[in-house]
Amino acid sequence: MQEDHFETLAIRLQAERTQFKEHSVPLYLTSSYKFDDAEDMRALFANEKEGNVYSRYANPNTTELIDKMAVLEGAESGWATASGMAAIFTTFAAFLKSGDHVVSSRSVFGSTHQLLSNVFSKWGVTYTYADLDKPEQWEQAIQPNTKMIFVETPSNPGIDIIDLEWLANLSKKHNQLLVVDNCFATPYLQQPIKLGADISIHSATKFIDGQGRTLGGIILGSKNLILEIEGFARHSGPAMSPFNAWLLSKSLETLAVRMDRHCENALKVAEFLEGHSSIKKVMYPFLPSHPQYAIAKKQMKQGGGIVTLVIEGGVAAASRFMDKLKMFSISANLGDTRSIATHPATSTHSKLTEEQRLEVGIEQGTIRLSIGLEHVDDILADITQALA
Ligand SMILES: *Cc1c(COP(=O)(O)O)cnc(C)c1O
Repeated sequence: MQEDHFETLAIRLQAERTQFKEHSVPLYLTSSYKFDDAEDMRALFANEKEGNVYSRYANPNTTELIDKMAVLEGAESGWATASGMAAIFTTFAAFLKSGDHVVSSRSVFGSTHQLLSNVFSKWGVTYTYADLDKPEQWEQAIQPNTKMIFVETPSNPGIDIIDLEWLANLSKKHNQLLVVDNCFATPYLQQPIKLGADISIHSATKFIDGQGRTLGGIILGSKNLILEIEGFARHSGPAMSPFNAWLLSKSLETLAVRMDRHCENALKVAEFLEGHSSIKKVMYPFLPSHPQYAIAKKQMKQGGGIVTLVIEGGVAAASRFMDKLKMFSISANLGDTRSIATHPATSTHSKLTEEQRLEVGIEQGTIRLSIGLEHVDDILADITQALA
């Protein structure tokens, strides 16, 4: 077995077999575990011994998923949560206390923005936003009480990119934790921990499941940092269910082939849109016209499955385009086998003011396309007829 090939690891790293020698890992639907004797119970509770105690802490299915994700991303350890937001909440709760400050990318997932502005703000945590395309803002935003730098790259839906190695050096210089939401890239396209980040977070709901079936979240980092995550998560209970872990671990087996096709299709769509007269702007990391193309090439294996475009004619034209699409689904989700179109200004980002939207690169005519695994000719044909 080639230890260092992503595809092989994603398929062959599996939990140990039971006495039945299953070829495919079974589902462990059990809330708790038996101890051999009183001493076994004591040692397991005292963390002197590895083993399963209770499924709020660990289960063979969640352990398999975490171990696999950690190897694929080059992390020492990890933790699985019920959703991507549970992973982000858990990370904030484990590391931030009243009086701490966070520097975050302005363009973050809507619920992450809600956590910072409405939840952790109640508990005395303050934050400052900085823009991915203006690196100088990040050092300026740092305060003596800054504990964490949080970043999403590529951003949603603006597809802005920041140099993670550069940001990791900045956070190290100031002794802060660098936390990366790596949802858009997956471990196959970008490995933040290898670039110097402390924590990498995934919404496994998106490309990792990739088939629109389940929610899930993963937190990856060093053993010591994950122990702090565990300290919060064991007692607060954001656990991933064994069934979802089983499903997601199976999904990882096909992540590489799926991502290759998502990226191949998305690049073709981006190139097609760039030459189209009804399109004002196209954002895709691996288009040479992307302002951070060189950084994208340096830190990403491929450009990902999301293409963001701005159509001429504002909301009216965007709505017309969406309504004319025959195959694309209109949905707020992304990272599915099915191609999806979203109009951020009237859906995912409708709670922002128009000025706030412009700050994160969302115009009235902005449309986010999550490019699926249908034949690329059918994807292009649907876009072509909708634009006509
Ligand atoms: C979807 C998403 C999340 C939240 O994940 P859920 O699994 O829906 O809770 C966080 N960050 C990004 C970038 C996302 O796209």
